[in-house]
Amino acid sequence: MTYASHYECTLCHRRYPFDGVMTSCPACGDAGILDIAYDYAAMGRTVTKAYFEHNSDFSIWRYLPLLPIAGTRHEETLRTGWTPLYETKRLAAAIGLNRLSVKDDGQNPTASLKDRPSAVAVLDAIARGYDTVACSSTGNAASSLAGQAARMGLKAVIFVPKRAPVGKLNQLLAYGADVIMVEGDYKDAFRLSKQAIAHYGWYDRNAAINPHLVEGKKTVSLEIAEQLGWDVPDWVVVSVGDGCTVAGVFQGFHDLFMLGITRRMPRILGVQSTGCQPFVTAAVRGGPLVECEEDTIADSIAVGIPRNPIKARRAVDASGGAWIAVSDTEILAMMKLLGSTEGIFGEPAGVAGLAGLKAAVERKVVRPDERVVGVMTGNGLKDPANAKKAVGTPALLKPDLQELIDYMDRKNDKGCVR
Ligand SMILES: *Cc1c(COP(=O)(O)O)cnc(C)c1O
Ligand SMILES: [Zn+2]
Repeated sequence: MTYASHYECTLCHRRYPFDGVMTSCPACGDAGILDIAYDYAAMGRTVTKAYFEHNSDFSIWRYLPLLPIAGTRHEETLRTGWTPLYETKRLAAAIGLNRLSVKDDGQNPTASLKDRPSAVAVLDAIARGYDTVACSSTGNAASSLAGQAARMGLKAVIFVPKRAPVGKLNQLLAYGADVIMVEGDYKDAFRLSKQAIAHYGWYDRNAAINPHLVEGKKTVSLEIAEQLGWDVPDWVVVSVGDGCTVAGVFQGFHDLFMLGITRRMPRILGVQSTGCQPFVTAAVRGGPLVECEEDTIADSIAVGIPRNPIKARRAVDASGGAWIAVSDTEILAMMKLLGSTEGIFGEPAGVAGLAGLKAAVERKVVRPDERVVGVMTGNGLKDPANAKKAVGTPALLKPDLQELIDYMDRKNDKGCVR
């Protein structure tokens, strides 16, 4: 059973009873992205702090009553969620914060946060009788959907832009998905997938259009709040492409606040790459988003036409948050800093949020005494080519001890002040 009560169109605010099937507002068409609303009074009779104390399911399914699905066969999915929230010391000090935690969502089964919405989508597809699921993706939505679909015995058809990183492509193929590489960028892949989904009648996992997916993404903030003992941080930082993740982050905290489990909302820092920053530009100039180039190594957030602009901007605005963009150089530097200070290896978009946080502290948007959680959204092994740009190459020596000693001496000479 679900406590979802109705849909509300983000554009015209019309309401429709929740049927689990509607994907966009009939009055507004595709642009009428829906919110899923809940009966918090009814939900609150089940979902209390005590409910979680007695819950031994350490996956996203511990939050099943907060999701818009009944959850048939949820025990069978790949184990998703309940990823670690690490309190950092060295990274916090390097950035200039007293308290910074990092949520390592690279530890999901296909190694990104996208496993959360994909697990929800696959269960939704099964409940509604689909045998094929489809999406277009810069990579992670695709690989997570393919993995979760394989696990549950569904077919997956995936549309990716030509420059999708090799780690993500290999995942897709290993999971047995039908992979269509589209000659063009993410915008082109999205357009073709939409036409194909309509033509063949597949389950549509395109994140902005299908409102179930933001709901899956919100489990990341439900976990953050619970892992902090229901103590809401001052800021939550996340990288932004289509805008569904940042919307999900907001929604999770909003649910807990509405249930009275938490007492306030965090501010949300939305981070983009300067190579593709439609949200940041719109925040500065005002007005609607303007389409832009997709020119950044952070492929997962290289989204020239964000599909969920209303929900994303609302999340940052309503939270009293901020938008910031960082260069690829700053992203690569953070990849190395996060790895070397905390042992967490992220892909470019995965660490972009933390790179943005560093810039936000420097610009005094975030104060040193504020409690911050950064969401690390994807594992570094997905994109070895860009990782190499951040980390360089190792020393190559002959298998000879004296050569090693000479090498170490040279290195120490450089590092030590005598
Ligand atoms: C998809 C993704 C994002 C951004 O999510 P959106 O919903 O597109 O804003 C950030 N980081 C990684 C690793 C992702 O895969
Ligand atoms: Zn509408």
